[in-house]
Amino acid sequence: MSAFSLHGLRPAALARLRALRHAGRRWRLWGVLLLVVGVMLAVLVWLARNHEIDEVQRVLDRDNADAAQVLRQGLARRLQDLHGLASTSTSAEDWTPAALALLDRHRDWLRLEWRDAALRPLAAIDSPYYPAFLGDDSASHAMPEQEVAETCAAARKLGGAAYADSRFARRAGGVGEEVMELCMVVQQGQRLLGYMLVTYSLGGLLDAMLAPAYTQRQSVAFTQLDGTRLAVHGGARRGARLFVSQHVFDLPGNALVLRMEGGRQTPDVLPNVMTALVTGLSIALVTVLVLLARDFRRRQQAEAELAEALAFRKAMENSLVTGLRARDLQGRITYVNPAFCAMVGFEPDELVGQSVPSPYWPPEHAHEYGQRQAVRLAGDAPPREGMESVFMRKDGTRFPVLIIEAPLISTLGKHSGWMGAVLDLTAQRRAEELSRASQERLQASARLATVGEMASLMSHELNQPLAAISSYATGSLNLLRDDDAPPPGATLADVRTALARIAEQAGRAGKVINSVHDLVRRRASTRQAVAPRALIEAVLPLVQLQARKLGITVRVHCPDTLPRAWCEHTMIEQVLLNLARNGMQAMAEVPGPRVLTLRVGAAPAPHRPQLRFTVADTGEGIGEEVGRQLFTPFFTTKAEGMGLGLSLCRTVIEQHGGALAYAPQAPRGTVFSFTLAIAA
Ligand code: ADP
Repeated sequence: MSAFSLHGLRPAALARLRALRHAGRRWRLWGVLLLVVGVMLAVLVWLARNHEIDEVQRVLDRDNADAAQVLRQGLARRLQDLHGLASTSTSAEDWTPAALALLDRHRDWLRLEWRDAALRPLAAIDSPYYPAFLGDDSASHAMPEQEVAETCAAARKLGGAAYADSRFARRAGGVGEEVMELCMVVQQGQRLLGYMLVTYSLGGLLDAMLAPAYTQRQSVAFTQLDGTRLAVHGGARRGARLFVSQHVFDLPGNALVLRMEGGRQTPDVLPNVMTALVTGLSIALVTVLVLLARDFRRRQQAEAELAEALAFRKAMENSLVTGLRARDLQGRITYVNPAFCAMVGFEPDELVGQSVPSPYWPPEHAHEYGQRQAVRLAGDAPPREGMESVFMRKDGTRFPVLIIEAPLISTLGKHSGWMGAVLDLTAQRRAEELSRASQERLQASARLATVGEMASLMSHELNQPLAAISSYATGSLNLLRDDDAPPPGATLADVRTALARIAEQAGRAGKVINSVHDLVRRRASTRQAVAPRALIEAVLPLVQLQARKLGITVRVHCPDTLPRAWCEHTMIEQVLLNLARNGMQAMAEVPGPRVLTLRVGAAPAPHRPQLRFTVADTGEGIGEEVGRQLFTPFFTTKAEGMGLGLSLCRTVIEQHGGALAYAPQAPRGTVFSFTLAIAA
């Protein structure tokens, strides 16, 4: 595995893994929370429901116990009535009406019998409220004698009354009912007088004794211990669920079960307030959970987006080639990007937290930079276009930079420091240097070309002063040949004049040579204050050289009062020469007077104080087609032209901060003009 993947990829993969694990744990926590809440809610609902069921069961049990109590009391009261009947009856005649009255009072009684001590019937009466039992003789449907004997024996044993097991008695019409006999002992002191037998209708018993309140809501039944239903009263409302309460109803000699059944009153979904409340709360809780989960999901999404934006910003910062540096209000470095670190060669921890002087300040500039920073911190706004400065790399090398600084404004709008973008200008400087050198070489070759062109003119022109010199010299020699007999009319003054002419012509020839020499030589380029006239005079001999050959008049207007120009004079001289040469060449073919005017004056307002040089000719003028390409390098209309003159002129003038322009001249010709700064 390469160092790159070890240091770059692995941590990224690890971070992703960790983030995934985090997310997994978070989801698991949510799952556990949901499970706990769900279980809690289920238990709550179950408990509430159970509680309600218990409550219903409890009420039913209580009602059942109450019913048993009522029944017991009723039976006890009936026993008392029987006792009353026994005590008041002496014969069958007075027993029967009293018995009938009792049957009228107790509708649960089907039959009353009075027997003597030997169980022989004395009197018997059936309730008029019931249809007769099957058969002709009602007595024959009374309890079988065997059972009567057993029940009464049991009553005697118990010393009062005993109930027989219930049995089913059929009536006419196919209906029947469960009946139960009671045998009560009638005695006076210890003497057994007889027995009272009562046949109870179990159904009637329930009907007569239980208040409708019980039987409305539930059904009450007598059953045997094994569950066989004997008599039922009332009808339970069928609910979703049937509740049952059983109560053993103990009677002397017999045991029954009192069974009460009740349906649940309310539907199951909202059984009662408590369950409803718990259900409502559960729904609210689940809703809150759902909302929370949604909020959580949104938050996660926002987090992911934020992380992505952050990663994008980081990647952007890291891939920037511009150095970024942030400083707080005290001038301490708070942030540097990788490009800045690469530029200065320091690690981020070597820079962050550093104050004045910064490690990348060259010691020789530290003082100046410190002052500049103090001004900045004092609140002055930095220049928008940036400023150039020199920084030092960790290895001590200096390099030029462009710093563009802006106030660092926090999201709350507070000014918290300064943010600087730093550009390394090393490469740019090198390119500028290269272009300058090539420009100079180009100018030199253009100058050489001009000189080549001039060489023939020069040889011709030099012939003139040389011929003049030679003829003056010959004349002088003639004057001086014979000291004693000078030619008639000749004086020493003539000789002096001739010598002066010789010197003049020699000077002129020298000037011609010098001006060419000056032009060709590449002097160190330095700007200086130069008088306009000096510039004109430097090129004038060469201009006049050509003018004379072409029959052109050269006029010069250059007042001595003009201020001096701030320029590199060889360059400006070449510009003047080029313009003058072009003007003369334009006039070569035209008929009529040919005048070349060189003029220097102050540039007209509204320009700042400047000098304005014009070179006007009365040549053929510049057509539209030529005008469009005038300053294009290598554009020429001449057979031997190079087409570099005007483009170089413009470059030179612009380098001097001036402008080169041309305009037609009336009635004929062209005026080229350029401006130059005045020396301070
Ligand atoms: P060259 O003189 O070598 O041709 P220049 O750049 O000096 O190159 O001039 C380019 C062209 O501009 C010339 O060929 C000529 O056609 C035109 N030109 C320059 N000066 C004048 C002028 N004063 N009058 C007319 N045409 C001119």
